[in-house]
Parts: sequence; C-alpha cells; structure tokens
Amino acid sequence: MSPKIPFNLPYLSGREKEYVVDAIQSREHCGNRTYSQKCIQKLEADFQFQKVFLTTSCTTAMEMGAILANLKPGDEVIMPSYTFSSTGNAVLLQGASPVFAEIEPNTMNLDVNKIESLISPRTKMILPIDYAGIPCEIDKIMEIANRHDLLVMQDAAQSFHSSHNEKPCGSVAHLAAFSFHESKNISCGEGGALVVNRPEWNERASFIQEKGTDRSLVLKGIKNKYNWVEKGSSFLLSDILAAMLLAQLEAAETIMNLRSKVTEAYLKLLRPHSNKGLIRILNPSSHAKLNHHAFFVIFNTEKHKEYFLTHLLGKNIHAYIGYLPLHSSPIGKKLGYKPDDLPITEDLASRIVRLPFYTNLSSQGLDYCLNGIQSALKKIQYL
Ligand SMILES: *Cc1c(COP(=O)(O)O)cnc(C)c1O
Repeated sequence: MSPKIPFNLPYLSGREKEYVVDAIQSREHCGNRTYSQKCIQKLEADFQFQKVFLTTSCTTAMEMGAILANLKPGDEVIMPSYTFSSTGNAVLLQGASPVFAEIEPNTMNLDVNKIESLISPRTKMILPIDYAGIPCEIDKIMEIANRHDLLVMQDAAQSFHSSHNEKPCGSVAHLAAFSFHESKNISCGEGGALVVNRPEWNERASFIQEKGTDRSLVLKGIKNKYNWVEKGSSFLLSDILAAMLLAQLEAAETIMNLRSKVTEAYLKLLRPHSNKGLIRILNPSSHAKLNHHAFFVIFNTEKHKEYFLTHLLGKNIHAYIGYLPLHSSPIGKKLGYKPDDLPITEDLASRIVRLPFYTNLSSQGLDYCLNGIQSALKKIQYL
C-alpha cells in the first residue's frame, strides 16, 4: 500500500498536553488568563505588535477589527477577490460592501497598482491578504491609505512569522488578523489574534472583545462594576486553547526551519519544469522573508492542472486547488459581480495548485511525494 500524503498535518511540539492539562487544572480557564497573557506578551515582544487580542479565530479577529474600525452600511472596503470567505464576511456583517480587486500573478496578492482606481468617496478601508504566507506590499498599501485617509486591516491568517522589509507581517497595518487554525503553521485547533497597532484603540478593543462591556476596567481595578458600553461580541480565546498555543509559539523557530526544508525540496524539484514553461512557481522577492506556509504551482493550462491533481490523487498524494474567487461566488453574484469582471483572478484561480505542505513532511513522506509530483509532470510533458 502506498503511503498517504495528506494536504496538511498539524505539528505537535511535545508540550501541548502538559500546558493544556495545567490550564484545565488551574480552574481559571476563560479568556485572558495565565496562558493567554503569556502568549500575548510573547507575541508583542517577539514581533513588534503594539497590542494583541487573542480571539476564537482569524474570522472573528477580522469581525472584531471591522467593529473597531467603525465599518457601517455604505462603507466600501477594497480587498482581493482571491481570498477566503472570512475576509468578505467581516465587511458584510457590518453592513459594508466589499470591492474586489485583481491580484498580482507572481504572489497572488492584491495588486497595489489596481487599488487607487477603485477608491471612491465611500471607501473606508483596504483589506489585503498574505497569500500562502507571502507578504503583501504593505508599505505601498499604507502609503496609498495614508494619502486617501483610509484604514488598513491585513488578513494575515497565513503569514504569521513572515516579514516584509524586515518588519513582521502584522506589525505595520492599523489592524492585522492571524489564524491559529489546524491548517496553519502554528495551531491551537481553532484560534486567532487581532493585532491593534493604534494605541488609542486599545481600550475600545478590549470592550468589543468582552461582549461590549468595560469588564477590562474592573479587572484593572479602575471600576467596581462593569457595564454595556460598546457594540461587541464574545471574541475571547479560552485559556485551555491558549495553553496549546503557547506550546506552539515556543516552537515557532523549529517549525519555520522544518518547513523551510519543504520549500527548498519543492524549489529544487520544480525549477527545471518551470524553466520549460509547463508551470510557474513563485519568484520570491528579496523584500520578503517567508514563513513557509504553503507552496503553489501555476500550470500553463487548466487541463494540465486537472491532470496533475488526478494523477497525484491516484498515488494518494493530496494536493489542493486554491480559492474559488469571491467575486464569482454565489455571494459575489448577489453583490453584482460577473466572473469576467476580474479576468486575471479567474484565470489564475483555474490553473493554481497547492502542494501538500506540513511541518513534518521533510521527515515523513517527502521523497514519495516528490517522486509522485515528478512522474505527474513528466507525463504531462508528453500529453
Ligand atoms: C485560514 C484563513 C482564514 C480563516 O481563519 P480562521 O482562523 O479559520 O477563522 C481567513 N483568511 C485567510 C486568508 C485564511 O487563510
């Protein structure tokens, strides 16, 4: 029987169980307890984040960010169509409207040259993502935002531990959201974080996170009763999950190093095929340091992509298509978009494949996986 190469397999550092059991036995395992505080301090110290709020997911971190940014009906938010539903939902849930922009083919991230033509008097925010952990052009995006008095929230779900121009992803935008979902480099099952880089927003953010109450002031001893003071929700990560998260954060360097071996192996295997024009692979920018979240390949034709996926599946190797663009989704259609409104996005989305990628792949099954990919690509050449 051939081994199975899954698309993703969560990594365990070895300390998760000890910390989680400790959190449970502490009998103080709601949000913002001991393990949460440790995670927050570590994140703020290691990555120059002004203030971190642990949340139940990246999805809810962006919802919290959208409330914090006062998004309201009539406001427009410019985002790539090539993203996950959560990016769009954060905006829709506040009654605001996503405005979808094209992506740049090398990185699959928001094309910064396409932003300004989409800015209208209603534009309130730019919401870029860091696809596959590749940083978006955040400095240019901030420059555009400052010139037009807009806010920037970065969907950094995939880019924890990446950096751009020596600055960690999430440290530059006004707001940034990370994911610690099972599928991401650092995981606590389901979890996330909202980074707030505007100190004047810290207090309101703490109210929004705690069901719209000023409970944080009671905890600090500033007030003795808490009250309903904001629009908010229940965004706090349980300390039980924060305990798992701490074990993972402590292993962040190991995780990144192990993952970098997978990138190297894929690059070595695929460069020759890329030189022949069958596929295109990322040409990394010298401005970016990658967290090795994912590896994608863009085929020259959709037919070749389909053949590749089928061939790999026959060998029990699970590669994956990318996103179905939001503008051509059922919700995108309801918002008035047609597929050919964003032809670059549609075309790239039809030809992209994400290869299996997980922290232990370098020691578990990498050769089998590389051989499978090699044989699929050889066959495609002679189709
Ligand atoms: C994974 C992901 C999300 C969702 O993260 P959750 O923590 O599962 O909510 C949002 N946006 C992008 C770009 C993602 O990759």
